[in-house]
Amino acid sequence: MSQKYADIIIDISHEAIDKTFQYRIPEELSGQAEVGMQVLVPFGSGNRTRKGYVIGITDEPTFDPDKIKDIAGISDKSLHIEGILIRLAAWMKRNYGSTMINALKTVMPVKEKVRKAAVRVEEEDYVILNPPVTVLNDYQQRLVDEYEENLKKGERHTYLLHGVTGSGKTEVYISCIKRVIETGKQAIVLVPEIALTYQNVARFKQHFGNRVAIINSKQSKGEKYREFMRAKAHEVDVIIGPRSALFTPCHELGLIVIDEEHDGAYKSDQSPKYHARETAIELARLSGADVILGTATPTVESYTMAKLGVYRLWRLPCRPDQRSMSTVEIVDLRDELRLGNRSIISKTLKDLIEDRLEKKEQVMLFLNRRGVNSFVSCRECGTAIMCPRCDVAMALHGNRTMMCHYCGYRIPEPRECPKCKSKMIGGFGSGTEKVEAEIKRLFPQAVTLRMDKDTTARKGAHGDILNRFLKHEADILIGTQMIVKGHDFSSVTLVGVILADVTLFANDYRAGERTFDLLTQAAGRAGRGQKDGVVVIQTYQPENYAIAAAAKQDYEAFYEMEMAYRRLMKYPPVYNMMVVLVTATQYEDVFDATEKIKGLLSEGITGADKVRIIGPGDATIGKINDIYRRVIYIKAEGADRLEVLRNKLEKYENDKVSIMVDVNPMNMY
Ligand code: ADP
Ligand code: ZN
Ligand code: ZN
Repeated sequence: MSQKYADIIIDISHEAIDKTFQYRIPEELSGQAEVGMQVLVPFGSGNRTRKGYVIGITDEPTFDPDKIKDIAGISDKSLHIEGILIRLAAWMKRNYGSTMINALKTVMPVKEKVRKAAVRVEEEDYVILNPPVTVLNDYQQRLVDEYEENLKKGERHTYLLHGVTGSGKTEVYISCIKRVIETGKQAIVLVPEIALTYQNVARFKQHFGNRVAIINSKQSKGEKYREFMRAKAHEVDVIIGPRSALFTPCHELGLIVIDEEHDGAYKSDQSPKYHARETAIELARLSGADVILGTATPTVESYTMAKLGVYRLWRLPCRPDQRSMSTVEIVDLRDELRLGNRSIISKTLKDLIEDRLEKKEQVMLFLNRRGVNSFVSCRECGTAIMCPRCDVAMALHGNRTMMCHYCGYRIPEPRECPKCKSKMIGGFGSGTEKVEAEIKRLFPQAVTLRMDKDTTARKGAHGDILNRFLKHEADILIGTQMIVKGHDFSSVTLVGVILADVTLFANDYRAGERTFDLLTQAAGRAGRGQKDGVVVIQTYQPENYAIAAAAKQDYEAFYEMEMAYRRLMKYPPVYNMMVVLVTATQYEDVFDATEKIKGLLSEGITGADKVRIIGPGDATIGKINDIYRRVIYIKAEGADRLEVLRNKLEKYENDKVSIMVDVNPMNMY
């Protein structure tokens, strides 16, 4: 048997992770030392015995083997939370193709003292609206009973809770968490972005009081660290936070809840580009915990797993209290144009808004695009105003400036075409600012609020806008997708989707899914109170399957169509997909590198391998901030095949370019 070596970190802090030391695994310990285990090693010139953690095992020494010391012994075979997180990092490295150091940095808490006195998130930040629910309905109770039974039997599962918007999923989470706490364990609750879910956090506070820790992307590292340490000391039972809260070093983890599991925010945008859902399931496996994924619009990935019986499928088919789902009306914008209505507000929507204003009920208008017009182009020669640094059209903003949404570059709105000098230059499409201007023109008496990236840049602006709308200080809230997530405004009885097609134009295999999600969520905002809601979806493509299924609120129909498309195109979850993105300041360098990588990856691959290599080609946006981007797509039937290809790729060295991989990306590059 070959000699094995272990890479060991002595100090298990985020800051010291780069400092690994190699030790020999002596014969008497061979086969026993594993990644994540705590071991005893002689350290430093005095060879004092220190505790360390194994982060990797290899056959190849990276130092002179004569100078490598032996591991003295195994300190503890049971896995501590640190050991679990190290194993999780090793899994992330394998699955997402990053370095072990990057994976460790992702899972290990950053130690930093809080400088100022506790800035704990203020209670007042959270709007408490409804009294706590005390009695679950039959649908909810059945699920909680099943959970309790499985818990008693010691069965661990991943549950997919598919419940229509407002069906009471949060109440199910809360009851399941209570059961877990009774067994002496803790729960992590992931939400897409804490700032967007004030009301949900308030509900957890109502139930768990100061036994809840909140991790928030606006907190300093020190504040986060303090919350992590409270969880480690078991001073809290529940941790709520965005994606990164998954790595809370819990004393004893029993349950991970992922609310709105379909949300794109669960995919990391930094290496390792992990998906919180997949990673949570692995963490639960390592810790002996359960996972509950909750959503009104499951990802086709999760729904497929539930159909296969890998996840337990839970359903909440209706809203409690006989509150009905909203009615959805589709407005075909092509007809509006034929009728001579050039406004972005259709006749149907206009009449309904008028009615709601009279009745003093509230309206939400949703458009997934900011700026006034999405882009400006010449009506004579067709030239669009492009960002000089990026391959994208610049967006027009209200103050007569144009901005690149990729690099932030700004220019004043041009008066003439830069190419043919024609004065016939103007904007196409419409953004939230333009919707607001149009509403003010049509309904001068209405008070409006706008919520998008531009109006929420300031800290606390989010909460302010939502609070003002909740207090009915405005009649109409206009916004981007920020306004559709999880808010519960009981006096909203009309939701208008200004243009449903926007997300469909994206060059993206998940565009259909995203459109269906957004429309379903938007529809879910109406009729949350005692009065029924109406949803108006304006579109140029009423026949599109995602729009049609969303209008009927028929997830099953959507799923079948979407899976047929994924099967045909061999997209995830049918095949695994990996993107290799190569970037550099010189186009020749990215061109050269991608050609070579393609050659390297293709070596030895035959038709029987069920691997397809597509490209190389320029990325959808070929240049961002003067950096060129080229991509290679790989589709493979099994995830292990991608791992083999990643290992080949790791051997390719070229310091003129950066190489990034993304496994099962959420969007195309
Ligand atoms: P979801 O998370 O599925 O969107 P919520 O848990 O937010 O749904 O519940 C939607 C609304 O219904 C909330 O106002 C909640 O207080 C209320 N609700 C949930 N369960 C019950 C119940 N069993 N009885 C009465 N009201 C309920
Ligand atoms: Zn021109
Ligand atoms: Zn730019």
